[in-house]
Amino acid sequence: MRRLGVLGWPVAHSRSPVMHNAALAALGLRDWTYQRLPLPPELFAETVRALPGAGFVGANVTIPHKRAALALADAASPAARAIGAANTLSFRDGAISAENTDAPGLLAALPWSPEGRTALVLGAGGSARAAAWALREAGADVAVLNRTASRAEALAAELGVRFAETAGPADLLVHCTSVGLDTETFKDLPVAVEVIERSACVVDLVYRAGGDTALIATARRAGREVVDGLEVLVHQGALSLELWTGTDAPLEVMRAAARQGRPPPPP
Ligand code: NDP
Repeated sequence: MRRLGVLGWPVAHSRSPVMHNAALAALGLRDWTYQRLPLPPELFAETVRALPGAGFVGANVTIPHKRAALALADAASPAARAIGAANTLSFRDGAISAENTDAPGLLAALPWSPEGRTALVLGAGGSARAAAWALREAGADVAVLNRTASRAEALAAELGVRFAETAGPADLLVHCTSVGLDTETFKDLPVAVEVIERSACVVDLVYRAGGDTALIATARRAGREVVDGLEVLVHQGALSLELWTGTDAPLEVMRAAARQGRPPPPP
């Protein structure tokens, strides 16, 4: 059995297992399986090093392990190094290699190229770093805004993007904070409803079971284009799966499973 999984703490809410298992089934990879791997930070390094011996060929990495994953790896892609975080580990020939598919996954989920467009990234954590880097690489004019302003300022200086003290409308508004994981509201965010309503496209990395986040619902009501967290999850997951299997990922199957939260019925 070839094993894959998602390492996180917490990880119970993750749709990755259902999405990847549906993809593996659709690809006819019957001896592959993907599982949740709940793992507290203090056990991260020793557990990851033991995974290849237990049959694992790769793993996704989520909160709060993305920086630790990069630090642990024997080799890392230029993107993972530049972002300072990895969401995908591959175990091959006794070595651990790190990649970041959050960045290209976000770009792939957008309805249009961000080149020459303005982007406001909310947050300064791991996913905000990946988003700001990806959008800058794709030619957008990027600004970063965060509750703790000093973190956004440092991130902006490091990546060569703008630091924003207040939120104004942008072509792309990309929400990368963890607000919404517990509260399902964006009221904690320093963003007025008018800013959301006047941004051409609103991206929310946060996703929730059973419908839109409040941020996506507000943007949708205003007739804005929206990209929700499940769409971003599908694209980053597809890129990870392609790295592990060397096969094109079945995007539609992954999207359907991620959205339904359960495997598709047998054909
Ligand atoms: P981090 O823990 O690295 O960063 C958290 C960010 O949220 C920080 O900027 C923090 O601000 C901010 N924040 C936390 N609480 C509040 C609050 N009450 N008010 C305002 N800001 C707050 O998390 P990640 O960047 O790794 O992940 C962020 C979210 O994105 C998570 O919900 C995660 O699940 C989701 N995600 C989704 C993906 C997908 O595929 N859909 C991919 C990656 C992430 P401060 O610096 O002030 O503490």
